[in-house]
Amino acid sequence: MTAVVVFDLDDTLYPESAFVESGFRAVGAHALGAWGIRGLGDACLTAMRAGSRGDTFQRAYERVSGADLPADRAHQLLKVYREHPPDELPWHEDALATVQMLHGHVPVTLLSDGYLPTQANKARALGLERWIEKPVFTEALGREHWKPSTKGFELIMSRYPGTASFVYVGDNPLKDFIAPRALGWRTIHIKRPTGTYAHCEVPPDRNADHQITSLLEIPEKLGITVRQ
Ligand SMILES: [Mg+2]
Repeated sequence: MTAVVVFDLDDTLYPESAFVESGFRAVGAHALGAWGIRGLGDACLTAMRAGSRGDTFQRAYERVSGADLPADRAHQLLKVYREHPPDELPWHEDALATVQMLHGHVPVTLLSDGYLPTQANKARALGLERWIEKPVFTEALGREHWKPSTKGFELIMSRYPGTASFVYVGDNPLKDFIAPRALGWRTIHIKRPTGTYAHCEVPPDRNADHQITSLLEIPEKLGITVRQ
């Protein structure tokens, strides 16, 4: 059976925490260079580990400067975070081994939400183009086509005419499997013990067909014979 295997990016192929840490380092360097404020990057990490969500920059800035974060500086920090190019990001070990194993046997591609410059920088830092053909970043189709829109998935289907079987592999059952299920794709949920959504419960109609704990299980789940 020829299947097209389509991966999610963040927390499926690599740990998103690595990007977050790299982003906070860039934010810290900006605060020092532009405003002479030291320690903002570390303070962001501390704030996030303490449970901040959405107010990380504010909390960290207040901690290192003793003042409220002005709106224009907040805007700058967000821009630096989103647009900084990480030098390198680590793949999940099982992810790299799996795409290498599938390479040359079945088409392997990717569909990911997120801000376009950010996702493009991640792709570069991971060297995705070596293993992933024509990744789809849904932001390029319009913000309204982030998951669970079917548009990006349909775009992938149009690129492989005559292929009957498509598979989507993701880590977030809240949004990853709704569209591919609606289009008749098979779906696989990667549940890593440390994953944000590993213990997330969703109604059966949103759940994936298969739950796995390592991407190395994919060839067997799909009946794809690969060289070991
Ligand atoms: Mg993800």
